Amino acid sequence: MPRPIHATIHTEALRHNLARLRAAAPDARVWAVVKANAYGHGLERAFEGLRGADGFALLDLAEAERLRQLGWRGPILLLEGVFEARDLELCSRLNLWHTVHCDAQIDMLASHKTHQPHRVFLKLNSGMNRLGFTPARFRSAWTRLNALPQVDEISLMTHFADADLAGGIDAPLARFTEATQDLPGERSLANSAATLRHGLEPAVRADWVRPGIAAYGGVPDYPEHDAAHWGLQPAMSLNSRLIGVQQLQAGDAVGYGSSFRASGPLRVGVVACGYADGYPRHCATGTPVLVDGVRTRTLGRVSMDMIAVDLGVLPEAGLGSEVTLWGRAGNGALLPIDEVAQAAGTVGYELMCALAPRVPVTVAP
Ligand SMILES: *Cc1c(COP(=O)(O)O)cnc(C)c1O
Repeated sequence: MPRPIHATIHTEALRHNLARLRAAAPDARVWAVVKANAYGHGLERAFEGLRGADGFALLDLAEAERLRQLGWRGPILLLEGVFEARDLELCSRLNLWHTVHCDAQIDMLASHKTHQPHRVFLKLNSGMNRLGFTPARFRSAWTRLNALPQVDEISLMTHFADADLAGGIDAPLARFTEATQDLPGERSLANSAATLRHGLEPAVRADWVRPGIAAYGGVPDYPEHDAAHWGLQPAMSLNSRLIGVQQLQAGDAVGYGSSFRASGPLRVGVVACGYADGYPRHCATGTPVLVDGVRTRTLGRVSMDMIAVDLGVLPEAGLGSEVTLWGRAGNGALLPIDEVAQAAGTVGYELMCALAPRVPVTVAP
């Protein structure tokens, strides 16, 4: 028997979350953001659940190629645009739309030989100061692009740094509105947080929203809101089993560093899951975990291949009992990935993306 840890990708949850996002941004078209191998879910595995999107947005040209190989003929947007001039050849060949965020990318386009002009998304730096033209330089970039025979339609985009916070989009939205005033073209501003929180505002949802994390059931503004609040379902479950049980007495420790010591008799389960599977090592004693679908907690340090869990509330549990690290248990109980991420001092995004290659993954309908 293989080691019992495995992940499941829930196709129906992806569909459900996509529908939730559509409802949150009525009439907007939806880019399903599938960068980072669909946030660790696997592009091929997530495709079936997300193919109802209007387009796919990602960063990596190889991933764009994989999407075309899957038979996707609709729009694909490169969120960081091209990295070198010859990437434009692939854009021409695969009909990829691409972000233009700096002068060097305009230079590359200007010297690109193509029969088919490209659809581009011109990016405004509205305050995040990662990628994009400043408001002062945005118009001249647009004018330059607009004069190129290599360029077809120009759409306008920006990205919010603080869409998960109250008032977090006010200033960047004002900058975007001002900088793009009377420029033609479609607009795209909203990530998951902006889509869920402000999708009913026409200026925010605009023509295209770009949700990533929410499509996978992760919550962009946790803990202010949780998955139940937004009606999102986990698209990834990480499950394993107990492979050992120990009976501790008062003063006994468990795991490296002996960081947890029992204050009295305590039954402890040992789970086949560790940081080499992508479970965060930073999770301290008390991180929530489900055993047979019942909520309990981890004990002591996470090691490479194992974690200890408290079986005090689970007298029936033993060798072979099902353990849910995040997602859905066999009895339907849910453990939101956001809770585990918070216990590790990180976000659900990182946990999804860090699912280790050694974990076998199956796709559920
Ligand atoms: C990753 C990304 C998104 C999606 O962000 P989420 O917070 O996962 O919804 C949207 N737009 C851009 C430019 C991105 O890089």
